[in-house]
Amino acid sequence: MVSIVLAMIQLTGQLLTIDVGDRTWTTTTIDAELESFIGGRGIATKLAHDRIPFDARPFGPENRVYLSTGPLQASRMSFTGRMNATTLSPLTDGLLSANAGGYLSRNFGATGYPCVEIVGTSDELLAVHVTNEDVTFEPVPELAGSVVSETSAAMDARHGVGSDTLATIGPAGENEVRYASLMTSDTRAFGRGGIGAVLGSKNVKTISFTGADELSATIPDDGVTEEIHRQAATEDHIMKRQGTTSGIDMKNDLYSLPTRYFERTSFDEGVDGINGAAVESKKYKRGTCSMCAFACKLPTRDEETGVEAEGPEFETVFSFGSNLLVDDIVSVMKSNERCDELGVDTISAGVTIGAYLQSEDRFADSELIHELIERIAHREGVGDRLAEGVDRIHDELGVRNWTTKGLEFPGHDGRVLHGRALGYATANRGADHMYSKIHNLEYEGRVPPKGLDGKAPLIADLENLKAINDSAIVCKFSRGAIDEDRYERLFGVTYDRLIEIGGLTVDLERHFNNKRGFDRSDDTLPYEIDGLEDALDEYYDYRGWNADGTVPDGMRRH
Ligand code: SF4
Repeated sequence: MVSIVLAMIQLTGQLLTIDVGDRTWTTTTIDAELESFIGGRGIATKLAHDRIPFDARPFGPENRVYLSTGPLQASRMSFTGRMNATTLSPLTDGLLSANAGGYLSRNFGATGYPCVEIVGTSDELLAVHVTNEDVTFEPVPELAGSVVSETSAAMDARHGVGSDTLATIGPAGENEVRYASLMTSDTRAFGRGGIGAVLGSKNVKTISFTGADELSATIPDDGVTEEIHRQAATEDHIMKRQGTTSGIDMKNDLYSLPTRYFERTSFDEGVDGINGAAVESKKYKRGTCSMCAFACKLPTRDEETGVEAEGPEFETVFSFGSNLLVDDIVSVMKSNERCDELGVDTISAGVTIGAYLQSEDRFADSELIHELIERIAHREGVGDRLAEGVDRIHDELGVRNWTTKGLEFPGHDGRVLHGRALGYATANRGADHMYSKIHNLEYEGRVPPKGLDGKAPLIADLENLKAINDSAIVCKFSRGAIDEDRYERLFGVTYDRLIEIGGLTVDLERHFNNKRGFDRSDDTLPYEIDGLEDALDEYYDYRGWNADGTVPDGMRRH
């Protein structure tokens, strides 16, 4: 393998492979892979591409789950309280990485492993305990059906390992809901694509990570991490008060806020009840992730009802608010809280419930919505069908299929933000707002929302940069604090070179998916955008891919 060696930033350490079928563990040297793919999503993608069979079944023992950190988790810089998870998705049937905040990343790093791989299938429900010295396996049949916080409390009582050391599934994961999340710190989700369901299929209820080791990483010492940290601590930013909900009124005014299962793009009659001010009115303390002075999280509480949640973030406000015609932020908070406890992705759950409400013409019914969340997680009654996701059930419901590559759409509407639409079509993960985040440039007017001129190469570059973010790992809400100069100083290479390196991860994801049958016909949208086909041609050409959306045989994939 030919390696691209990054000049300054470097993570070393071994891959820990845990076979939960025969309850064994092994370690493997992966230095060469880490040199090329940095860590996080990059190293997990490289290993998943090479180790998960192209014909694997998502719920088969041959599927693998990767949990990984990056070199910046060895720093004390803000925006680094995050971790990566990668697997073959039971929702999209392609390779999928998700990213969660909270406090797990540093506890994971204390094991000394940059990446942990879970393979096999256990014959009984397990808790797996990983330290820098050992891996132990604890049968936990008595935790079957327990919600996330109950599992955390049990692990804390038995072993002194609290929620910040745990990656846990809820009943939804055990029941293989195709969009079940993997939870940490009780309320932080590796949300998208069903990673929790894959661990459920392996009969793994929870994994604890503790230790006395530390990540082995070289990071720059020219002061750039301190500059970024200081800016995060001192700058005045509305996200510190309202998190990602701060732009809801703007999105509503721009007609980019999907409403009534995407029938409309604004919620004028109800937006005041669910906007950033409504969320802020329920916020009772600051919330953050490990080491992060930006602190954009949203612990909320309603004194009247006693409902408490971590959030809701913008995407949950869209999926359980405007898109279901719910104008009550407490109802959205309760949906958020139940999704976290039961372990389901709030976007996919809300959109799938929206499909059902449209089929029944029962929008704005909070009681029904909360009941459906429970039924989905336990696969009870109609919940058993809704647990399959919109792509698999839209025909029987008689509604439009609001997915791309099987992933339910998030809340930045591509019918208004045309670059956003193209990015939904191209993303290997499916309808994924975090894959390029082009919508930020369109909201800010840095590129015009209408039209696709020049956007194909821009989206490719942004996708590559986000792959770097997910590999290093640095939170994507750091956008205002890390400019091109700071990226170059953090990584020790030119910005253009960094974009090129990020592209290797995108190529690998695409190549894996191609081997499972994905091609241009999957880069689609449920609506028409003028110029989409020409823009796809330009995008594939810019990446060096074939016109059918596949990675050419022999293209460098190291
Ligand atoms: S910016 Fe927000 S989401 Fe990102 S690491 Fe900091 S607190 Fe967590």
